[in-house]
Amino acid sequence: MKAEQNVRDDKPAEAVAVEDLHKSFGDLEVLKGVSLSARQGNVIAIIGGSGSGKSTLLRCINMLEWPTRGTVKVHGEEIALKADGRGGLMPANRKQIQRIRTRLAMVFQNFNLWQHMTLMQNVIEVPVHVLGIKRDEAIAEAERLLKRVGLYEKREAYPSFLSGGQQQRAAIARALAIQPEAMLFDEPTSALDPELVGEVLTVIRDLAEEGRTMLLVTHEMNFAREVASEIVFLHNGRVEEQGDPQIVFDNPESERLKKFISSVQ
Ligand code: ADP
Ligand code: MG
Repeated sequence: MKAEQNVRDDKPAEAVAVEDLHKSFGDLEVLKGVSLSARQGNVIAIIGGSGSGKSTLLRCINMLEWPTRGTVKVHGEEIALKADGRGGLMPANRKQIQRIRTRLAMVFQNFNLWQHMTLMQNVIEVPVHVLGIKRDEAIAEAERLLKRVGLYEKREAYPSFLSGGQQQRAAIARALAIQPEAMLFDEPTSALDPELVGEVLTVIRDLAEEGRTMLLVTHEMNFAREVASEIVFLHNGRVEEQGDPQIVFDNPESERLKKFISSVQ
């Protein structure tokens, strides 16, 4: 075998990649050509000021928004897009979108649990009704996941009876239940009271340690430094700086990143 093949074979497969991603809302260009790639097991922490485009980037990857230009690939498969006739793009193949959507799980700032369902119902909903998993199997898996995030005793409770930290841990259990290729976290601890942040970060750290692929938007810089394999600093819709956490945090090159780091610490 050739040496270069060896090198290629050693690298984990690419789980999620975006290339030259642009996104506009009307005249407002929010993403101005973002490229990044997460291989399996990578934890990419996306940092940046408010309005820099972090949520929009995750929403384009998770197909809650369609990019105006550029490509999104999940597990090596490029999402097929076509012109929407209004200067943007739209899905070219609905079936493909449905399939790829089940490979990604997103955890939101405000948990977004279904309020009229118990935690158990929240966790089994997609496995049973979208993925076609047998109900008793889905329940057994949900019990395991709820145990894992410390909520087994609360499995029959409704979200509104739980703390924010508990709700977010349940949302993570729900995300895990689809066995995603990658998990996308959009400021998962920003809506929590300070004393509840730690319990959610503990669960995320645990997922990072077991080798999950994650894209994590966060303002928790110490946490990002600790768990991320790579930091991506977004500024004004562009990747202003990226790299190894130690290097990015200890020796930032960009003046904007220096300013940002000192503003959040
Ligand atoms: P961040 O998550 O980094 O704070 P966002 O991606 O939420 O930034 O937003 C980036 C910019 O895009 C902001 O100026 C925001 O107002 C704008 N924006 C986001 N979503 C929409 C939308 N659906 N329609 C119009 N403007 C939007
Ligand atoms: Mg945001």
